[in-house]
Amino acid sequence: GIVLRNIRKSFGPTTALHDVSLSIVNGEFLTLLGPSGCGKSTLLRILAGLEVQDAGSVAIGDRVVDGLRPKRRDVAMVFQSYALYPHMTVAENIALPLRMRRLNAWQRAPLVGRWLPGTGMARRAIDMEVGGTAEALGIAHLLDRKPGQLSGGQRQRVALGRAMVRHPAVFLMDEPLSNLDAKLRVHMRAEIKELHRRLGVTFVYVTHDQAEAMTLSDRVVVMLDGEVLQVAQPQKIYSDPDDRRVAEFVGSPK
Ligand code: ATP
Ligand code: MG
Repeated sequence: GIVLRNIRKSFGPTTALHDVSLSIVNGEFLTLLGPSGCGKSTLLRILAGLEVQDAGSVAIGDRVVDGLRPKRRDVAMVFQSYALYPHMTVAENIALPLRMRRLNAWQRAPLVGRWLPGTGMARRAIDMEVGGTAEALGIAHLLDRKPGQLSGGQRQRVALGRAMVRHPAVFLMDEPLSNLDAKLRVHMRAEIKELHRRLGVTFVYVTHDQAEAMTLSDRVVVMLDGEVLQVAQPQKIYSDPDDRRVAEFVGSPK
């Protein structure tokens, strides 16, 4: 599993995370839920290695990963903003992690966004992986398009595909559906749930949307002001909130 121990993080005078400890079970769907500014993204970014904590340690799969770059952590992150390359096709966007795999940083820098044969995985293996992933996500017919020619939901699928081709042990998702309209959001929610069921790997999901947290999660982590208030199954958060602040946030009668 994943163990976060006594994580602290400040940005100048702002303390984003006070002293957060958390254990995540292999294969579970865990959601960080809390209001804007409570530290959800900061915690996820520390887990991903995109941000360095001031104190505390992170272990993923019984390996302490402090100081390891994101690519060495066996995690894949999906962002709210999709973070797709606009000048690359859908196929190229999805294939990017596979092509980059064998290149080191100085080789990689000038290549970002250019399709180079003979780098990373073999071309045919990449095509098969990308094709299969796109098929699973229902975007196989869009592989030659550019992100600018896609709907929000289609872009979100491309971003998911780019995470999936890495076959990570852990998916980290930061409000991946918040750019979608309400109807599509509910639809994609079901797809993410199905993806989790099918892959059986750990998902750590960030949202400030309670309904999303409640329907998706095995367990929910309620955060406020850089602290974890409660970690429990969704119904328990409602029926048995640990304190008044949790009850107030989820609107249950305690
Ligand atoms: P939201 O739901 O709005 O995305 P969040 O729970 O993800 O909020 P964080 O982005 O983790 O919140 O931010 C936690 C706190 O740290 C906030 O007060 C925020 O202003 C601050 N913060 C986050 N990143 C930075 C940064 N790079 N520089 C300065 N302050 C930051
Ligand atoms: Mg955030």
